[in-house]
Amino acid sequence: MAGKDYYGILGIPRNAPDKDVKAAYRKMARKYHPDVNPGNKGAEARFKEINEAFEVLSDADKRKKFDQYGSDYENAEAYARARQQAQQQAQQQYGSPGRGGAPYTTYETSDMGDLNEVFESLLKGFGTGGTRAGGRRAPRRGQDIEHQVEVTLEEAYNGTRRVMELQAEQACAACQGQGRTKNGVCQQCRGAGRVIKPRRLEVKIPAGVKDGSKVRVAGEGEQGMGGTPGDLYLVIKVAPHPLFKREGDDLLVDVPVSLVAAVLGGEVQVPTLKGNKLALRIPAETQNGKVFKLARQGMPHLGDTSRGDMLARMSVVLPTNLSDKERVLFEQFRSMRPN
Ligand SMILES: [Zn+2]
Repeated sequence: MAGKDYYGILGIPRNAPDKDVKAAYRKMARKYHPDVNPGNKGAEARFKEINEAFEVLSDADKRKKFDQYGSDYENAEAYARARQQAQQQAQQQYGSPGRGGAPYTTYETSDMGDLNEVFESLLKGFGTGGTRAGGRRAPRRGQDIEHQVEVTLEEAYNGTRRVMELQAEQACAACQGQGRTKNGVCQQCRGAGRVIKPRRLEVKIPAGVKDGSKVRVAGEGEQGMGGTPGDLYLVIKVAPHPLFKREGDDLLVDVPVSLVAAVLGGEVQVPTLKGNKLALRIPAETQNGKVFKLARQGMPHLGDTSRGDMLARMSVVLPTNLSDKERVLFEQFRSMRPN
């Protein structure tokens, strides 16, 4: 149903006062009344339109809505209500935007922005003169959306996958996106023509991502209105690790070394993010805090095959619970090295 111009139908300007609306209606109704035009289908249709126009324009409330939304103001209002409901539903399900930790937050913000835009284009379609199809379906690329994803350092090291719960706007199946069925305003979408459905999507997070990395998932953004869809961006946050400190693509790890191995030399075990350990030979008289570099054992570099290094920092552990014999030996050592 295209927007109708009720003012045009009655032949009055938009700012016509109530008495002019009434006068114009009387004049037109007399002219097109079926009794005056027996069997004239055209006149009958005009007469119906005139009555419809008068019904709206003679009612202050309806006239105001018509001025704002056009003749399809009931649908426009229903859409506004449906939109509000969808927002509330999303908030109940995912928490309010701005509350920390909810992965939905970012998405919701941009999604709502887009709905506003959709709503505006709907209204243009509802306005007098414009057709609804033109207003609603003008091709427009979907917006990009961003989603925060937190990964562990292990996941950043190996690459990982995530199943995302997204909300997608779809054409309403009950009315084929028209907002109306032959029974009137579509009950499924309340006239919006579109419904919001949850959508699951498995995404791949490549090895080497770091804090603030943006991973693009092409075509999985907002669907757009007849145009190409936008992209989904995963904004990565890497959780801190209890053992490893990331420095660019290098990994720094503290490795405990016994006093004996530090003094006499020996082998230490360097943990890795793969879960295994690398044997590292250290020379005699290795000082506490000394860093050994294990080449190419660090983080993979995002986007190519190079890797950072592992930086193993020696942390000498002094013996505790000395036996009497051990204490004697240390005392002998002191006598040789008083300082
Ligand atoms: Zn529908």
